[in-house]
Amino acid sequence: MDQISKPASNSAASPIALEVARRRTFAIISHPDAGKTTLTEKLLLFGGAIQLAGQVRAKKDRRSTRSDWMAIERERGISVATSVMTFEFGGHVFNLLDTPGHEDFSEDTYRTLTAVDAAVMVIDAAKGIEARTRKLLEVCRLRDIPIITFINKMDRESRDPFELLDEIEKTLALDTTPMTWPVGRGRDFVGTMDVATGGMRLLDGDEGKTGPLRQMSMAEIAALNITLDEGALEEELTLVREGCNPFDLDSFLEGHLTPVFFGSALRNFGVGDLLEGLGRYAPPPRAQQADARRVEAEEPRMTAFVFKIQANMDPNHRDRIAFARLCSGKLQRGMKAKLVRTGKPMSLATPQFFFAQDRQLAEEAYAGDVVGIPNHGNLRIGDTLTEGEEINFVGVPSFAPEILRRVKLPDAMKAKKLKQALQEMAEEGVVQVFRPTDGSPALVGVVGPLQLDVLKNRLEAEYGLEVGFDMSEFQLARWVSSEDPKRVDEFAAGNRLSTAEDLDGDLVFLSPSAFMIGYTGDRWPGIVFTDVKDVK
Ligand code: GDP
Repeated sequence: MDQISKPASNSAASPIALEVARRRTFAIISHPDAGKTTLTEKLLLFGGAIQLAGQVRAKKDRRSTRSDWMAIERERGISVATSVMTFEFGGHVFNLLDTPGHEDFSEDTYRTLTAVDAAVMVIDAAKGIEARTRKLLEVCRLRDIPIITFINKMDRESRDPFELLDEIEKTLALDTTPMTWPVGRGRDFVGTMDVATGGMRLLDGDEGKTGPLRQMSMAEIAALNITLDEGALEEELTLVREGCNPFDLDSFLEGHLTPVFFGSALRNFGVGDLLEGLGRYAPPPRAQQADARRVEAEEPRMTAFVFKIQANMDPNHRDRIAFARLCSGKLQRGMKAKLVRTGKPMSLATPQFFFAQDRQLAEEAYAGDVVGIPNHGNLRIGDTLTEGEEINFVGVPSFAPEILRRVKLPDAMKAKKLKQALQEMAEEGVVQVFRPTDGSPALVGVVGPLQLDVLKNRLEAEYGLEVGFDMSEFQLARWVSSEDPKRVDEFAAGNRLSTAEDLDGDLVFLSPSAFMIGYTGDRWPGIVFTDVKDVK
C-alpha cells in the first residue's frame, strides 16, 4: 500500500494542502459509442450525485431545449458543450470534466484536457483502440497526463484480453498493467479477479460494489460456469501475474504505463474498482506552469485559468459562464480577483459548482476544482485570475483551423455588429477569427464543419445576423514567429495580401496550400510557422 498517492506533507499540512490532496480532476477519453456516457452515469451514481442512472442523458436532452443553437445538438444527437461534474466518494472529491464526443468539436476537448490531472481511457472490448482514442491520447501525451484504462463491454463478445493489452502497448506505446482480469469470455464472462490479491468480483451479485472482494478457490471459480476449466484458468492467471508488467506508480504518473481495469459500464460492473483506482493512484492537482514560474497547488494565494467559455443558455442575455480551473489557494465566494490580461479587478460574487442535475453556488474551492464564473464577456479562454500577482498560465492551446471561410454578410449596414459578434464568438472559442491585413472581410477558421453551423445559428439567434460562408482562396493558416521580432514585422510587410491577425493580434500566414507554406518558409529564413499556439 506504499504506492498510494497521498498528501506530500505530513500532519503539519495546511488546510489547503489537505483539501488539495483529496482532489482528483479527470476526463474520460474514448471513441464514440465505447461507453463514455454510460460510464459517466455509473461513476456519478457512486458519488450519490444522481439517484438514478440515465439522468446524464436526460439532462443532455433538457439542456438542449434551452436555446436555439442547442437545437443542433438535439437534431444531430451530439453533445456540443463541455461540462463539469463534481462528486465525492471514499473521501475524495472527483471533478469529472466532460468533453464533446463529436470530433468537429475536438478543439474544445483539447482545451479541456489542459485542465485535468488524469484521464480515463475507455475502450470497447470488441473493437480495441479506435481512431479518436488514439488522437485524444496523443493530446494527453503532450502534457504527460497519466492514463487509467477501462476496457468496457466485457459482458459481450470481446477480443482476447492479452491481445487488447498488446494493442495498447504497440499502437499507443504505453506499458500496461492489468489490475483486474476477466474470468470467462463473452456470454460466459463471470467476473473479474483482482490481480494483486486474487479476490473475485462476480458479474452476478457484485454489481455496483466497491471494497472487499470474495475470496474463492480456483475450483470454486471454475464451478461458476461449465466453460471454465480449472487448469486452464490457473495457467492463464499465472501468465497474467508473471508475464505482465508489475504496476509502477512513477511510470504511471509520468504517463508511460497505464493500469487496466475490465468491466461493463452498462451492468455497473468493475466501475467501483475503477473509481477506487482513480482515488488511489491518480495524482492530486499538479503544479501548473505559468510564464514567470511554476505554481504549486498548495500555495495559499488563489490562482486560476479559464479553459472554456459557454454561452449561458439564455440567448436574450449575453451572459456567459467561464469555466476556470483553480491552480492554487482558496477561492471564496465574494472575493476580488485580478484579471491579469486587463489588470482589472473582478468580483467573484457567484462562482458555481456543477453537478449532474444542478448547479450550486461555490462557497469555496481549491486547486483542481472547476468553477463556473458568470460574466458579461470580460473573461476569455486562456485568461488567468490571481489575487494580484502578474502571472499568466501557459498551455491552453489554439489549433490551426482545418477549414477557412469568408463571412458573407448580405446586409452591409450590419458590418459593425458582425465585427463585434465575431469577436465575441472567437473569445468564446466557438470559431477562430482572422482579420486580413489588407482590410478584406474577416475569415473564420474551424476544425470541423459543425462549428460553422453553430456559428451561423448563434449569429442569427443571438445577434439577428444572417450570414453565409464563402469559400476562401486560402486553405490553411499558420502562426508566424521568429526569434527576432523585427523579422515578423518584415514578413508582415512583405506579405500583406496573405497575412491576418488573430484575436490576440498575433500574425497569421494564410496559405492556399501546404506547398505554399513550405515554399514561403524557404524564402523567409528565420521565420517559423506553427499550427498550435498557446493562448496567452
Ligand atoms: P458514448 O458514445 O461513448 O458516450 O457511448 P454510450 O455510453 O452512449 O454507449 C454506447 C452504446 O453502448 C449504448 O447503446 C450503451 O447502452 C452501450 N453500452 C455501454 N456500455 C456497455 C457495456 O458495458 N455493455 C454493453 N453490452 N453495452 C454497453
